[in-house]
Amino acid sequence: MTVFTDEQKIKYLQDIVQIKTVNDNEEEAANYLAGLLKEYGIDSYGVKYDEGRVSLVADVKGQEEGKLLVLSGHTDVVSEGDPFYWTYDPYAAEIHDGKMYGRGVNDMKAGLMALVLAMIELKEEGADFNGTIRLAATVGEEIGMYGSKQLSEEGHLDGADGFLIAEPSGQGTIIYAHKGSLQYEIHAQGQSAHSSMPEVGIDALQLMVDYINNSNEKFAEAFAKGTNEDLGDTINVNTVINGGAQINSVAEKVIMKANARTIPEVDNQVVLDQINAAIEEVNATSKGELSLNILQNNYFATSPDDNPLIEALVNANENPEAVSRETIGGATDASNFSRISDEYDLAIYGPGDMSVAHVVDEYVEVQEYLDFVDIYKQAIKDYLKV
Ligand SMILES: [Zn+2]
Repeated sequence: MTVFTDEQKIKYLQDIVQIKTVNDNEEEAANYLAGLLKEYGIDSYGVKYDEGRVSLVADVKGQEEGKLLVLSGHTDVVSEGDPFYWTYDPYAAEIHDGKMYGRGVNDMKAGLMALVLAMIELKEEGADFNGTIRLAATVGEEIGMYGSKQLSEEGHLDGADGFLIAEPSGQGTIIYAHKGSLQYEIHAQGQSAHSSMPEVGIDALQLMVDYINNSNEKFAEAFAKGTNEDLGDTINVNTVINGGAQINSVAEKVIMKANARTIPEVDNQVVLDQINAAIEEVNATSKGELSLNILQNNYFATSPDDNPLIEALVNANENPEAVSRETIGGATDASNFSRISDEYDLAIYGPGDMSVAHVVDEYVEVQEYLDFVDIYKQAIKDYLKV
């Protein structure tokens, strides 16, 4: 039995793509989803993050007590950039040759809407499962995973056994783990002076060089202490450096940005410990001042590649052998969700090609989106089977 026609499913996706949620205004998308759920007798509640920014939580309960499966997607999208470069209006959700175009259609409104429709259809079909399906539509994932952090910290997802996150992976790829991501800045504060008299100033550039050399040694030693068989090694990359004012002045201020990608064996705190130790050592021997500014501290998310949720999703495919189980370097809302419990089943699986996320002319194959509604339904019933 299906509750919705393909035309309806397509229309709902177009509606939500047409709601502009560029790192803001997620409340409008949450209200839209709440209205749709309400039409089918499913109550929901909003969790306010900020003015105009609301995450949405809704439950469908099965026959008896059982597992709690969280279905999650973020409602925010990244900026469309200059619409001039788009072939089609980024917020019109036009369909051409079987593809729906629009900002956020791939990352990740198609996945989110497929989850919502699967949830409604399961309820309408009599909720033939045990346990609870809980929708968690989150705000601000693209900037700082604000919604998932808030929902996790405030207890809205306590007791979850599984997390299904509908980020675009494509039908042929399912993600069971990803690294953590630590984004930070190192500030070097010196004192400017004429370059003919450097001794009266403090060279912030030299300070940063000393920090880089010192921290690289510490990273090398610390990172060699553990490897994850799925994710590889923790790495650190210094990515941006800015400083100095003019060619004949000693640099007063230098700021460097860096990004570490972490594994459970060498986690975010290990990286922070090395950074702080390097800062302390260099500061102890210099008149200048190094300091750390953490921008984002997202943890890894790991789960066995044959966990029951992965198995259910793989088996919901017509050709299970064609689905590969992989890891990714980037972080998702799972960074926050997975800190709720020590053991959980994680699957990141949704319609859309990962490489199309955030680009101009972002699209999703309409048929893949429609297929995912059925894949989710079957997998959820299997995971929560009576
Ligand atoms: Zn995303």
